[in-house]
Amino acid sequence: MGSFNIHPDFQNEFSYATSPLDPEEFRRQGHMVIDYLADYYQNIEKYPVRSQVEPNHLKSHLPDSAPYNPEPIENILRDLQKHIIPGLTHWQSPSHFALFPCATSTAGFLGEVLSTGFNVVGFNWISSPAATELENIVMDWFGKLLKLPGSFLFSGGGGGVLQGTTCEAMLSTLAAARDQMLRKIGRNNIGKLVVYLSDQTHFSFQKAAQIAGINPSNFRVISTTKDDEFSLCPNSVRSAIIADVEGGLVPLYLCATVGTTLSTAVDPLGPICNIAEEYDMWVHVDAAYAGSACICPEFRHFLDGVEGANSFSLNAHKWFFSSLDCCCLWVKDPSALIKALSTKPEILRNQATDSKQVVDYKDWQISLSRRFRALKLWLVLRSYGVVNLQKFIRGHVNMAEHFEQLVAMNKRFEIVVPRKFSLVCFRISPSAMNQNCKILSTEEDVNLINQKLVESLNASGHVYMTHGVIGGIYFIRFAIGGPLTDYRHVDMAWTLIKDHADALLKAF
Ligand code: PLP
Repeated sequence: MGSFNIHPDFQNEFSYATSPLDPEEFRRQGHMVIDYLADYYQNIEKYPVRSQVEPNHLKSHLPDSAPYNPEPIENILRDLQKHIIPGLTHWQSPSHFALFPCATSTAGFLGEVLSTGFNVVGFNWISSPAATELENIVMDWFGKLLKLPGSFLFSGGGGGVLQGTTCEAMLSTLAAARDQMLRKIGRNNIGKLVVYLSDQTHFSFQKAAQIAGINPSNFRVISTTKDDEFSLCPNSVRSAIIADVEGGLVPLYLCATVGTTLSTAVDPLGPICNIAEEYDMWVHVDAAYAGSACICPEFRHFLDGVEGANSFSLNAHKWFFSSLDCCCLWVKDPSALIKALSTKPEILRNQATDSKQVVDYKDWQISLSRRFRALKLWLVLRSYGVVNLQKFIRGHVNMAEHFEQLVAMNKRFEIVVPRKFSLVCFRISPSAMNQNCKILSTEEDVNLINQKLVESLNASGHVYMTHGVIGGIYFIRFAIGGPLTDYRHVDMAWTLIKDHADALLKAF
């Protein structure tokens, strides 16, 4: 990293800033920070991917109270490099294969910088018309790119909104569905409302349902099986709904997933939406990670049936190169959201709102204030164009296919669940263990050695991977999607995995 020379203003013992936003100082420090980050990306492979610090690392390095006198940015950046960087897990590292990607890009970063730079608060149209209108436009662009039905677009009577996270998208649509149903059956019947999910649905959904006031005993967690590749079985959904209706309960909301977190299972949207329609239920489709892939025609079929859903969301900050946070939510009936989430304080009253010609996004989300997130998507879509965005995604999928082939060709390993996108689920196989042991190893032994493998790989600092447990099987998740990841990093990771597995198998 570059060396930092202290600005002359700070050579005096006491120096007071004249303004918190002096344009020349902003320029100087801004350049310095961009240079710092460019160096960071250039050198990112030198850092341990997963932070190796012990708990309370920072406490021992930083003072226990805030400075009274100002400090120069040069000193702050020096401390950042010395104390903060070791405590970072480098999500943009090309060897970060953990969880799901959280990919940024030059365009996503610059969109974020512009948004923060303007720092407008676009809660209603009048508070910054361009913030709202750009969001309307990019959400229709993106919706068209995904070939969402016209009814999800502003141009077709629906519309999209940028929220922070999928959990917020789930909560706001659940509130819309809840209030819509309670208007029909009466507020006192909230205890009868039932929500449906699978045992693979992201845990955020249960949190959202809890906040929305659904009785936790009315969370129907439907089991999935290996035979169905861990996707929701429509017959099981129907049976659960029928049992609830017979028990006097009211089916409300089903959360389907395209690309589950553990293994990227895809729920069959068409059949599920057909059942939900019979019972007047709301269906939300959570495609947090995999949704982005559906801009490629070869993956679009995973969204077949979405036309029957009420809402659809994906995280553009995961695999659409728009830095955190940027959850895209589309709804068919914005009025349901608005009825549940709108507020009409006198202080925000204005002619544009009264004219009903504009969108006031505060009524489409939980919080009032909101950031100008649309800039990120606008820059990403314009800077890369559909052609490059498809190329980036296909590149990741092709690398995952390459990794999958390496695993499949090696007898010591096995693929645990068939790959659909850029996540490969694998483990050291039971047969590899049995070759090394005199007595047959148990499933627990196999799980344990795989757990040790993940731990030793991550402790090496060269890669970061996380695990999952499905059907009692502990497996390793290898998720590709980093903006800097290339075949070289995938091959290096594979060599490391084989070496660490060899050492563990020998010692077993
Ligand atoms: N849904 C799925 C399928 C996910 O994989 C994740 C996170 O990885 C989430 C929801 C949660 O997303 P968020 O953190 O945006 O709430």
